[in-house]
Amino acid sequence: MSQQLTKEQLISVANEYGTPVYVYHAEKIEEQLNELTNAFKDCNAKFFYACKSLTNINILKLIKQYGANLDCVSINEVNLGLKAGFAPKQILFTPNCVDFEEIEAGIALGVNVNIDNISLLERFGNKYGHTYPVCIRLNPHIMAGGNFKISTGHIDSKFGISIHQMRHIERIVKTTNIHVAGLHMHTGSEIKDVNVFLQGLEVMFDMARHFPKLEFIDLGSGFKVPYQDDDVKTDVASLGKKVAEAFAVYEKENGRKLEIWFEPGKFLVSESGYFVVKANVIKQTTATVFVGVNSGFNHLIRPMFYEAYHRIENISNPNGPERIYTVVGNICETDTFAWDRKLREVREGDFLVFYNAGAYGFEMSSNFNSRLKPAEVLIKDGKAYLIRKRDEFADLLKNQVEVL
Ligand SMILES: *Cc1c(COP(=O)(O)O)cnc(C)c1O
Repeated sequence: MSQQLTKEQLISVANEYGTPVYVYHAEKIEEQLNELTNAFKDCNAKFFYACKSLTNINILKLIKQYGANLDCVSINEVNLGLKAGFAPKQILFTPNCVDFEEIEAGIALGVNVNIDNISLLERFGNKYGHTYPVCIRLNPHIMAGGNFKISTGHIDSKFGISIHQMRHIERIVKTTNIHVAGLHMHTGSEIKDVNVFLQGLEVMFDMARHFPKLEFIDLGSGFKVPYQDDDVKTDVASLGKKVAEAFAVYEKENGRKLEIWFEPGKFLVSESGYFVVKANVIKQTTATVFVGVNSGFNHLIRPMFYEAYHRIENISNPNGPERIYTVVGNICETDTFAWDRKLREVREGDFLVFYNAGAYGFEMSSNFNSRLKPAEVLIKDGKAYLIRKRDEFADLLKNQVEVL
């Protein structure tokens, strides 16, 4: 059974903690992780939660409790993970375009490090040689079909070291005696077709022959979750089966066992999150009926930034007649959450909920227009906990230095 919060639970949180508010459902995160674990039970699989999707310390602690590891893209995320109780070996540090000092800081903390640039690999080799096992992020240049979106694996991407530079990688690895323990790829978000992962895996197997001490292959993420009712979701069960088969063949042909690592972000937390706002005004213009809510793209940027679709419901009037609305925020710039959306009749003061708001929701919020960031609430075992206080006016001035 799929875990879900009820309208009554969301309304009760909105009444108690005010709006706008992000609400996360612990049991849904656990359910998603269990689904992945089951799907890959026949593989030697490890999961590293890509915490850039949602870093509240309580969520990190939950993820640890549920048995996953952590993928971090900045040294601050690494430190948050350590603070949440993850052991250094449970953390994978996958930064992009960082100063070598940030890599050194990760190494000093003892976490797994992913290197995605030739110059950094060279500096790493010169300084650490064989003393610290490392993972290399490759760009596999996967170009398949066109029935999916590739955003980080293509030829113009800034991520990873091109597989066509393998000769150069090998040169550095040999001359500085680097211990390459892992190979990594992450071809982007929302991959619908499991064959993309399998194609990537074949590229990784092919590259693996250059590294006799390899221990794992990391396929990154890209697991898609449904945002609309008829949306496809990555078929992880089928992917798990096929990956297990591919590894069995590889092990038989090459006589060595490798672990498979994944870095799910969205898959673990997206559906656990609900963003509840209040309808401030209904505005009828000559062409449109707008619902203006007490939030904006400063709180949930995905619709404006990615043209993302979030399902919206009026939880205060679930049996009202359906009408067509354009749902907008209060930011002084075009700020549209949804065009021409069918909602149960919205009255000023009603609560609306945005579904699938757990990933890249609060995490990408800002104080634009000097608006305050929303509160975050966690629901676990049916109980609501405030896990982040709403910003206060003083927070806007906290780091400003008044000199005049
Ligand atoms: C963002 C990111 C992920 C997570 O992607 P999702 O689509 O949220 O699952 C995983 N690995 C790396 C390196 C990333 O940058």
